Amino acid sequence: AQDFDGLKALVTGGASGIGRATADLLAARGARVAVLDLDPSSVEGPLLGHRADVTDDASVRAAVAAAAEALGGLDVLVNNAGIGAQGTVEDNDDAEWHRVLDVNVLGIVRTTRAALPLLRRSAHAAVVNTCSIAATAGLPRRALYSATKGAVLSLTLAMAADHVREGIRVNCVNPGTVDTPWVGRLLDAAADPAAERAALEARQPTGRLVTASEVAGAIAYLASPLSGATTGTALAVDGGMQGL
Ligand code: NAD
Repeated sequence: AQDFDGLKALVTGGASGIGRATADLLAARGARVAVLDLDPSSVEGPLLGHRADVTDDASVRAAVAAAAEALGGLDVLVNNAGIGAQGTVEDNDDAEWHRVLDVNVLGIVRTTRAALPLLRRSAHAAVVNTCSIAATAGLPRRALYSATKGAVLSLTLAMAADHVREGIRVNCVNPGTVDTPWVGRLLDAAADPAAERAALEARQPTGRLVTASEVAGAIAYLASPLSGATTGTALAVDGGMQGL
């Protein structure tokens, strides 16, 4: 039997990068998987795509309901949709703070709120949030992004406490620098993308970037009954960069 036989999972931001690798891995291990994304047009094969914007509560509620209907319930919610921001506190104005907090923090709140009534009916309910080493690393020029991920870490612990007696586990993964289209876009914006990539790799203790499928593996562990006694934790997937 596969680890996820018969389990039903929803992955937000599942059309690209870490989310896509997670959706593919869960499906390969026997789960029925739906993806919620701004643009699910690339979602294919066994994955079901649902278009929604995690900043729009009505679209989230509609997509979660449609996904649960199509899957026949919901056991696993992976809150992975997120966006980046660069700069110090002087570089981002209030509108930018609200925009990024809305996706990275309130996005998780909205999706989880919509999913909780469904998760309560599951015998193997798990929520996994994609946090970041930025939550605790004190990275330069990442004030806003780090603050959103610090909030994701705290939210993970608070939600774990709130729902443990309902049989719902809540954990997060803290990836380091992961080779996804997101990082590709950052590299493409550099004057010399190849040199920038080499510099990024040189900063990793492992000498290479983390792969999306390695983060997916950690998410899958926290989503599966294999981690049935684990809730309110953060699992680092950072090639030894930071830990915690
Ligand atoms: P990505 O850009 O490749 O994929 C993100 C996906 O989220 C996209 O498909 C996008 O359409 C979707 N999305 C964005 N805003 C959305 C919204 N408002 N509503 C619905 N969907 C939305 O990025 P990625 O690198 O795979 O990042 C995924 C998560 O991993 C993010 O939460 C990010 O903060 C986190 N993370 C990434 C890294 C990294 O180095 N790539 C490191 C640590 C944490």
